[in-house]
Amino acid sequence: MNVKMLVGGEWTDSAGGETFEVKNPANGEVVGTVPKGTREDAKRAIDSSKEAFGKWSEVAPIERSRILLKVSETIRAGAQDLAISLVLEQGKPMGEARSEVNSFASTFEYYAGLIGRERGAQTPFSTGEGFFIVTKRPVGVVGAILPWNFPVSLMGWKVAPGLAAGNTFVVKPASTTPLTDLMAARLLLKAGVIPGAVNIVTGPGGVVGEEILDNPKVSKIAFTGETATGKRIMESSAKSIKRLTLELGGSDPMIVCDDADLELAVEGAAWGRFRNCGQSCTSVKRLFLFESIADAFVKRLADKTRAIRIGDGLEKGTHMGPVHTAEQRAKVEGMVEDAENSGARPVVKGQVPKEGALAKGNFYSPTLLENVSYDSKMAKEECFGPALPIFVVKDLEEALERANDTPYGLGSSVWTKDLERAYHAAERIEAGTTWVNSPPISRAEVPFGGFKQSGFGRELGVEGLDHYYETKSIQVLEYGKGKKWHFPI
Ligand code: NAD
Repeated sequence: MNVKMLVGGEWTDSAGGETFEVKNPANGEVVGTVPKGTREDAKRAIDSSKEAFGKWSEVAPIERSRILLKVSETIRAGAQDLAISLVLEQGKPMGEARSEVNSFASTFEYYAGLIGRERGAQTPFSTGEGFFIVTKRPVGVVGAILPWNFPVSLMGWKVAPGLAAGNTFVVKPASTTPLTDLMAARLLLKAGVIPGAVNIVTGPGGVVGEEILDNPKVSKIAFTGETATGKRIMESSAKSIKRLTLELGGSDPMIVCDDADLELAVEGAAWGRFRNCGQSCTSVKRLFLFESIADAFVKRLADKTRAIRIGDGLEKGTHMGPVHTAEQRAKVEGMVEDAENSGARPVVKGQVPKEGALAKGNFYSPTLLENVSYDSKMAKEECFGPALPIFVVKDLEEALERANDTPYGLGSSVWTKDLERAYHAAERIEAGTTWVNSPPISRAEVPFGGFKQSGFGRELGVEGLDHYYETKSIQVLEYGKGKKWHFPI
């Protein structure tokens, strides 16, 4: 695929004329080339988005709702092609790619349904002199900066509520996964989103991304990515006081109590850690097991982990694809090595395939480690790959204390049949979401986001829509009641 970028409804090359290659993480082959966008390209996209804002924000809400529904139908009709593209550039297995595309479509459906449902009120002043009305206005041009782990669903989390509220976009996909976002943008146009309302500029974060951050015509940044990049984005966007939603890294704890349904919890741990090759913001990244069930749990989880088949995501029977890049794999290997150096025992040892077809990709087999030190990198930092550290705790209090001992606060889960215990844990865990007896599954109607250094603001749910509005207050003084504020001269 040689794809151009989308600026003002036109498919264009970059101003500098350069392109870059997108490679398949499963075998290193080139799957496409895209334009290497420049600051000038980003500026053009921002200008076109600004111009489109005047039109899109005036489209009647009911019509915006119809268009968003049409977007979701168009995505579903093109789901197979989008999913194949996702597998080729991102590496995930086909089943997971289909489910990501499905979630992308559902997000548009959900926000189409919210348009026109707002209820307002006219409220009297406490002094009785008049009343006020609170209205909502779209924010303006939004810069959406995306990561590579869920390229389309995370674009949907931003673009669907943003368009629903009347905003327009300049989207910057991750440099290693621009193709599916560009395909998706084609579908948005086909469904009736007006030209210029969604622009896609491909190129380096340090160039295209920086222009989006610096440009005063951009009113809001919706960012998903690493916490370190999020900090940089906060600094840069301070120059023009942009609104910010930051969805950053996580190190989610999973706590399994002694009364949990072990079979279900083992399934949840495997799904939660190894889906998307462990590269989800809400992957299970630290497993806490009560002493009394630890041995039985580890044995079952080890059996399950050994049965995971790694391979090319397009091949039938593949459970887990490659790590997204060689650099990312090296980071995971480094963390495993660091844990082993500080005493961790591999229950299932991670391997880099050295021969055969898999040796051409960035594969790393699923890994389980026990006896992991709380001082190791795996315990302290985000491990973004298929390696799971296991910690044994004596009770819930110890588990909660350890679970909270991290700068992150994105997801978490607690597994128990005792609802009182579950609720107590959920209230105590410092994280934006706690799943009870469930692996981390995001749903369009449930607000999602982080505590602590996992970010702020929320995506999805009604809260996700609120972040795309400015609140405007209109204060009305009733006729004849304004005497009190006359300047006394
Ligand atoms: P990243 O921070 O490396 O990159 C994210 C995006 O930022 C990319 O498009 C990149 O090009 C851009 N970027 C980089 N430098 C920039 C700059 N100076 N200015 C503007 N843009 C810049 O993140 P990643 O490696 O693509 O994604 C993985 C990370 O994302 C993990 O930490 C993961 O936990 C996190 N994540 C969080 C959520 C969430 O909802 N909280 C969801 C998915 C992923």
